[in-house]
Amino acid sequence: MVRLEEWRGKEIFRRYGLPLPKGVLVRSREELDRALDAGTVPFPCVVKAQVLAGGRGKGGAVRFAETPAAVREAVGSLLGTAFKGEKVSAVLLEEKLAIARELYLSVTLDRSRRLPLLMASASGGMEVETLPDEAIEKVWVHPMVGLVGYERRKVARTLSLPGPAQADLEKTLDRLWRIFREEDAELVEINPLALVGEHLIALDAKVVVEDDALFRHPEYEGLQGELTALEEKAHEKGIAFVEIGGDIGVIANGAGLTMATLDVLLQEGGKPGVFLDLGGTDDPRKVAEAFLLMTEAHPKVVFVNIFGGVTRCDTVAKGLLEAMAQAPPRFPLVARIRGNNEKEGVAILKEGGVGSYTDLAESVRHVVALEEGRERAPPLSAARSGGAP
Ligand code: GDP
Ligand code: MN
Repeated sequence: MVRLEEWRGKEIFRRYGLPLPKGVLVRSREELDRALDAGTVPFPCVVKAQVLAGGRGKGGAVRFAETPAAVREAVGSLLGTAFKGEKVSAVLLEEKLAIARELYLSVTLDRSRRLPLLMASASGGMEVETLPDEAIEKVWVHPMVGLVGYERRKVARTLSLPGPAQADLEKTLDRLWRIFREEDAELVEINPLALVGEHLIALDAKVVVEDDALFRHPEYEGLQGELTALEEKAHEKGIAFVEIGGDIGVIANGAGLTMATLDVLLQEGGKPGVFLDLGGTDDPRKVAEAFLLMTEAHPKVVFVNIFGGVTRCDTVAKGLLEAMAQAPPRFPLVARIRGNNEKEGVAILKEGGVGSYTDLAESVRHVVALEEGRERAPPLSAARSGGAP
C-alpha cells in the first residue's frame, strides 16, 4: 500500500483531465519567496500541509490566507513542524474558491465482495466519516465492464447537480474510474469534490496504490518508507515481519496461520505486538535469523505457533535453539508445534528447556497469562542452564 500525498494525487488527476484549483507546491521559505516573486501564488490562498494523515482541515493543517504576509506566516507555521506525528516537508498553495456544495466521490476495492466499490455522497467535506449509511450511494462496479448507464444515473440522482455540473459529473466519474483501473489504485477519493458556480472541481485528492503493482510504477520508489527500523531490516533479509505495538511476539508459518494466531490471542485478551511469518523454509539458520530479529523487538513473551509442513517442526526447533545460544532471550517462550516431524521438534525443544503444547487454546491462555503477569516463567536462559544436566 503506497499512499500518495495530495499533490501527487492531484498530478495524476491533472493527467486525466480532472478540473483542479490553480496552485503551486513549495518545500521551503526560499521556494515560497520565489513563487511570490513570480506571481504563481494565487490569492486568496488555501495553504495545505502535505501529509498522509487525514483530518487536516479540522486539525489546522489547512489554512486560509489573503495576503503574501499571511501566506508567509501560514507556511512558516506548517513547514518543518509535525502534524499527527508526520513531518510537514511540503505545502500546497491553491486558489481559494467559493464553494457552493461539497460532494464526496471515491472508488475503492471491496474485498468482501471482491469488486470495486464506487461511493458517492451529496454531503462531502470534513464530516464525511460521521455520515449515516443512507447518505452514501454505493455502486459495486463490474471490473471489466466499468460504470454503466444506470449506475451513473444513480450517482447523478444522489448528487442532484445543476445542469452544467451534470455533464462535469459524467466526465469526473469516467476519469475517476480510469484512474482507479489504469493507475493500479486501491483507493481514489475526491473529498471534497466542490461545486463552484455551476462546475465541479476536485479540491482534495487521495490515491492509494496497490503494492503488487509497484513494479509498474518506478515513480513511487522510496515512497513506501513507512516501515519501522526493524521492519526495514527484516525486509532486507526477506522476512515478513510487522510491528503492531503490543507485548506479545508471534512467530508462525504461513500468512493464514499467522493471522489466525493473532486473532486467537486477541480473543483471549492478549496484545500481540510483533509478528513474523517464517513462510516455508528447511533451513534452521533462517529460523534463527528470524528469532534474533524478534529478540530485538523486546517482546514481553514470545509465542511460536508452527504447523509443520514444508517448514518442519525439527527445523524450527533447531533454529530456535541456535538463536537462543547466540543471544539468550530475556523473555519467556511458549511453543505450540504440530505437524511434520513433531516428535523430533518437541524433543529438541525439551532438551533446550522449552516445553511445548499441542493444544492451541491452552498455549494461548498461557501466553496471555504470562503477558499479564498472572503467571511467571523463569527467563529462558535460566530455564536452560537450570534444566541442563
Ligand atoms: P482534509 O481535511 O485533510 O481532507 O483536507 P481537505 O483538502 O479536504 O480540506 C479541508 C477543507 O478545507 C475542505 O473540506 C474545505 O471545506 C476547505 N477547503 C479546501 N480548499 C478550499 C477552497 O479552495 N476554498 C474553500 N472555501 N475551502 C476550501
Ligand atoms: Mn479531504
